[in-house]
Amino acid sequence: MRRRVLEILAQSHAPVGAYEIVEKLAANGEAVPAMSVYRALDFLTEENLAHRIESRNAFLACNAGHERAEPVMFLLCEKCGAVAEMQAASFSRDVAKATKAAGFEARSSIIEVSGICEPCRKKSRR
Ligand SMILES: [Zn+2]
Ligand SMILES: [Zn+2]
Repeated sequence: MRRRVLEILAQSHAPVGAYEIVEKLAANGEAVPAMSVYRALDFLTEENLAHRIESRNAFLACNAGHERAEPVMFLLCEKCGAVAEMQAASFSRDVAKATKAAGFEARSSIIEVSGICEPCRKKSRR
């Protein structure tokens, strides 16, 4: 189940919503209750095999293979919906410093940057 969900996420360049996954599985003749999909997604995000894109309430397979709880940055294209994952090392150091100074124990930090991706920018320039 977890593998199937991860496969579906990996096949998409744009983040996929939980309900969309249920529908894709159903279209494949695999009727799976939404609850199992949510559980699989919980597992995958906890293991950092996938990430949750908060602003879209959707999920994306992780292609970076980074450490657990390592801060990541997402570039979200407003035109085509593509999402690129990037490391944000220096930014995350600043965040760590600031949260520590505030006496705050950070559990995760995900940065979402919206804008226009390179292929879309090239298209609009033509
Ligand atoms: Zn990742
Ligand atoms: Zn784009």
